[in-house]
Amino acid sequence: MEETLNRKLEQYYEEMVSIRRHLHANPELSFQEKETARFIQTYYKNLNIPVRTGVGGGGVVATIEGKQPGRTVALRADFDALPIQDQKQVPYHSSVKGVMHACGHDGHTALLLVLAKTLKEMENELIGNYVFIHQHAEELAPGGAKPMIEDGCLEGVDAIFGTHLWAPYPTGEIYCSPGPITASADRFQITIKGKGGHGAEPHTTKDALVIGSEIVSLFQLITSRKINPMDSAVVSVGQFKAGNAFNIIPSEAYLEGTVRTFSTELQDFIIEEMERIVKGACTVHDCDFEFRYFKGYPPTVNHEKEADYIISKAEDVVGFQHVRPLNPLMIGEDFSYYLEAVRGAFFLTGAAPSGTDIPYPHHHPMFDFNEEAMLIAAKTLGYAAIGFQEWRYF
Ligand code: MN
Repeated sequence: MEETLNRKLEQYYEEMVSIRRHLHANPELSFQEKETARFIQTYYKNLNIPVRTGVGGGGVVATIEGKQPGRTVALRADFDALPIQDQKQVPYHSSVKGVMHACGHDGHTALLLVLAKTLKEMENELIGNYVFIHQHAEELAPGGAKPMIEDGCLEGVDAIFGTHLWAPYPTGEIYCSPGPITASADRFQITIKGKGGHGAEPHTTKDALVIGSEIVSLFQLITSRKINPMDSAVVSVGQFKAGNAFNIIPSEAYLEGTVRTFSTELQDFIIEEMERIVKGACTVHDCDFEFRYFKGYPPTVNHEKEADYIISKAEDVVGFQHVRPLNPLMIGEDFSYYLEAVRGAFFLTGAAPSGTDIPYPHHHPMFDFNEEAMLIAAKTLGYAAIGFQEWRYF
């Protein structure tokens, strides 16, 4: 069956590319992906594959039932774009101002659609059920995964697999490991409320800008002095707004940033430390404050046996020397919710564009990936899906 799958996927590679380029040229922001969802729905309808739309809000789920009953395996691809202006000079660059597929979700969608078409053509040989989860809104918490699960997209599903095309890593390689692979991705907002005044009379003010600066510095000590160096965490301030004139001391300062960890214990510890620092600095300087903390996606934790299973399938596709361990990434990914609900694994498919030494990172206005990686990802997911029926550890 693997040979048939390979042959068909290769035969449809050009279609995969053209779907990807169509989606790339027509990106839609998270929670607004109406046309993309319609495109996916139409594709399945034309193939006579039952499809459900509006799942959890904006998701699309299609199911192929094999001729013989068996296990149910789900494959997931996200389909939202980002608020970034595409700056690439390619024929398929974004036609929407300020919106861009800068993370490769267009590729995820294209490869899953063509994989579904391929499996549909093989349905007479298939055992079990194949669920294709097209997820909206991965880029924007609270994300699409959670509502889709609540709306039943994992009902009857025994295991789930998914991949992310990854431009920083070489095309032709696959990365997977058991355990945590992406971080929790949280957001905080802090407002320091002091007392403004004339820049020449600082003693009559409570300088929110100076206190904000102290807080930024003290935050650096959380990761460098409070956390075991063998654990990993990030506390990053990404915005600092205060003042609007050269000779006025501002009454307020506003800080916003992100916290990343691979465990919920560490996450809770960092929240406590941050609150202590903000409270401490503001108490010392007699200021008020507001501290708001929003938990984003939980860490994505691969199930051990399922990760090993993906590794073995990836080896069949690219050769064992091209399958590597996946060092956990500090990005957030809402695939985590699926892995909290059912067994499964997530892997990265190397997708560095050819002819570039240092690929543009994901979420960059020049981001692009090697489209051949879509074929590798589709094969690996396909092998995992059809092999799952006889996998003895389930
Ligand atoms: Mn992404």
